[in-house]
Amino acid sequence: MRPYTALTIAGSDSGGGAGIQADLKTFEEWKVYGMSVLTSLTAQNTTGVQDVHHIPVSFIEAQLDSVEQDLPIDVIKSGMIARKEAAEHIGAWIAKQKVPYVCDPVMVSASGHPLMEEETRAALSEHLFRYATVITPNIPEAETLLDMEIRTERDMQEAARKFVEELGAKGALVKGGHLNGEAVDVLYDGEIMRTYREDRISTENTHGTGCTYASAIAANLAMGRTLPVAVEKAKDYITEAIRHSFDLGSGSGPTNHWA
Ligand code: PLP
Repeated sequence: MRPYTALTIAGSDSGGGAGIQADLKTFEEWKVYGMSVLTSLTAQNTTGVQDVHHIPVSFIEAQLDSVEQDLPIDVIKSGMIARKEAAEHIGAWIAKQKVPYVCDPVMVSASGHPLMEEETRAALSEHLFRYATVITPNIPEAETLLDMEIRTERDMQEAARKFVEELGAKGALVKGGHLNGEAVDVLYDGEIMRTYREDRISTENTHGTGCTYASAIAANLAMGRTLPVAVEKAKDYITEAIRHSFDLGSGSGPTNHWA
């Protein structure tokens, strides 16, 4: 029997908490066979990003071609894509694949290090969002991309609607982890506005949360679940992963993929 498969196109976190490493650990937990195309390498640990090396676009393309020529792909998930040229080529490749696509618009590391060049931001909707089954911005990312302030659940709903109606994504999950109170996420799929609520867990160890959440959504889409169900299952998973996160390193420890 062939397993479900997922391809992540993202950056490497040498500390193992975020990026490609978080994505592959998450796919593994959902029993989905993971494949990876690396866009950038970060020298990173729980305290921050010490250095970044971008993979040349020609080699990103070589990796995409190698996977495409030989392996089945049930879902695509993207994370850190630093450069505009990389976003253009990856978007053109994704357009040919005709499978669900989860786009996590990673801009800044949890420790505050920029992971995307400024000119790439404008390229996102043109080259990536339009192919996305769902995009998964957190509040700071949504504020930057839409140039608006988000303070309330109603603002989150307005943002989710704008991502779909103005920036062309098929679905948008705006994640409210950066607001106070309950951890509320809003999903708009072009038809229905849904809200997902969980208790807020008080911890500093949230490194890799965004990557893990988006990858869990992707894994569930690979299995053929609908977007609202995939988000519901992924929300449960990320909540437990944060509740049982690891106090590793002297900075923001990683989420627990086994939870
Ligand atoms: N991708 C890479 C390669 C990273 O290094 C980071 C954060 O440091 C992220 C993505 C985003 O991490 P998070 O899941 O915490 O938003």
